[in-house]
Amino acid sequence: MRTRRKIIPISLPTPFPVGDVIVYVLLGEAVTLIDAGPKTKEAYEALKGALSRHGISLLDIDQVILTHHHADHVGLLDDLPERVRIIGHPNNEPYINQKPEFIHKELDYFYELFQSFGVPEQLNELVMEFRKIYRLSCHRPLTQAVKEGDRIEDLEDWDIYYTPGHAESHIVLYHLGEHIMLGGDVLLKQTSSNPLLEVPKNNDIRSRPLLDYNKSLKKLADLEIKTILPGHGEPIDNVRQLVDNRLQKQQRRAEEVYHFLQKDALTPYEVCQKLFPQKYENELFFTMSETVGQLDDLEDRGKVEMFLHHGHVYYKAKRVEK
Ligand SMILES: [Zn+2]
Repeated sequence: MRTRRKIIPISLPTPFPVGDVIVYVLLGEAVTLIDAGPKTKEAYEALKGALSRHGISLLDIDQVILTHHHADHVGLLDDLPERVRIIGHPNNEPYINQKPEFIHKELDYFYELFQSFGVPEQLNELVMEFRKIYRLSCHRPLTQAVKEGDRIEDLEDWDIYYTPGHAESHIVLYHLGEHIMLGGDVLLKQTSSNPLLEVPKNNDIRSRPLLDYNKSLKKLADLEIKTILPGHGEPIDNVRQLVDNRLQKQQRRAEEVYHFLQKDALTPYEVCQKLFPQKYENELFFTMSETVGQLDDLEDRGKVEMFLHHGHVYYKAKRVEK
């Protein structure tokens, strides 16, 4: 007999710098998979092999809960039978579907946005970065959309919390009785989860991923969490301390940006080059998202202001009365 709520972690290789992704099998009345790994042969074989060591096959999986839509967490959905229920936040939808209209809209949006941020014409890098990621993702719709407070079949004792910032589709599952969280990428031990820009959802207002992310971190700090089982790296026991560290690290980076802007008004791209001199060329999207996040945080705290000049966005430090 299977014991209820047995949680089996399975590491799957990914071609991303973050390294392995960890998916979790929850054994109850149903067999639930938390996230699905990237669409590579290596990840597929690793998942199949690990499941079989526990006497489970891919055909036994009843449902998959997505913590968020990134390729390293969803790609293998394409290899699961059609009857498997795919459950996640509604914001997963355009990314896991990869409808051509959306993919074009997304590229056009970032092309224009990044130009206004002062990124020079050669935006081919961005297109390449996006293509590489989408190749490892899936083409599959959600069966069930869930939001904070909803319940999932066979997981009635898990609460859903909405934790955007790293992705606007991000949710976590929290077990009230055991104080365990299936955390996806909301908090990682070895590395900070980067806030990432996304296409506006219902209106034209640009996303503010770092502000969302900091709110999500504070949400975690308010919960009584014994352990977070994350999407990458080791389990996290000292959640509040790690949340504090992450928030402090972010504040230090914002101060660095503020320091640049006290000397000069700069475009987000110029700030990005100063902040990530080694990385900005090869990881334009990640480093720009992080940079814009720091600018949003400084603007939100009234320390900098944005203005337009010849069609480009600039930020400058506000004068502080002493
Ligand atoms: Zn992610």
